[in-house]
Amino acid sequence: MTQAVLKLSDVGYHWPGRSAFALHVADLTVSKGETVLLLGESGSGKSTLLSLICGTILPDQGSVSVAGTNVTTLSGAARDKLRAEQIGVIFQQFNLLPFGTVSDNIMLPLRFAPERRKRAGDAATEVENLCTALGLPRSVIHAKANALSVGQQQRVAVARALIGQPPLIIADEPTSALDANSQAAFLDLLFTQTAAHDTSLLMVSHDPRLGERFDRVIRMEDIAVIERAGE
Ligand code: ADP
Ligand code: MG
Repeated sequence: MTQAVLKLSDVGYHWPGRSAFALHVADLTVSKGETVLLLGESGSGKSTLLSLICGTILPDQGSVSVAGTNVTTLSGAARDKLRAEQIGVIFQQFNLLPFGTVSDNIMLPLRFAPERRKRAGDAATEVENLCTALGLPRSVIHAKANALSVGQQQRVAVARALIGQPPLIIADEPTSALDANSQAAFLDLLFTQTAAHDTSLLMVSHDPRLGERFDRVIRMEDIAVIERAGE
């Protein structure tokens, strides 16, 4: 039996004070090592779903299990810790600390996750290894993030998600600002790293052309009942 890294059951959510949008997901499972592309048009609730998975918001009903732990039963602090330990997150805008160095940015998740820090071994060495693997020159490791090119910032965002080998990587439209060549290069980096460590990947996009590279492609409208006012 393949192990589920992520499992949502009967999850319902609406944003507080907003009746215009509601989401219900009966079942979403991601297995260990599986790469899944989640497609859906703008406003269909993709980012909301990722926030539910990351435990930054809690569902009105249902359960969200990450690495075997039901996020919905945990306190806020415990959810933060679970996220830091188990999930590498790549945001659309990369969300780097602009005045932090590349090294500060990559090490950031380890600060809140002692087990992940242990898995990373010597963190400075691990930062160097990741930078080498991702084609970031050593000369930038101590540069400020805001001094980097967009392509380099992307690599830092990937390195930050990968450090300490979390079992699940979540990426929210990380390629939407990139041209086709940079998109392909970004996915090459991500897939090489996830394959090497049997990491699961759930990536969100509105671009179906990315689908062929993933084990499985799912669509918001197939996994979720989405209520939107006026539709
Ligand atoms: P997608 O990522 O697919 O574009 P979102 O999850 O961002 O979709 O948005 C789904 C719906 O939830 C939209 O109606 C959006 O306005 C609403 N929404 C998203 N984030 C928030 C928030 N922080 N507060 C209130 N409503 C939100
Ligand atoms: Mg979104």
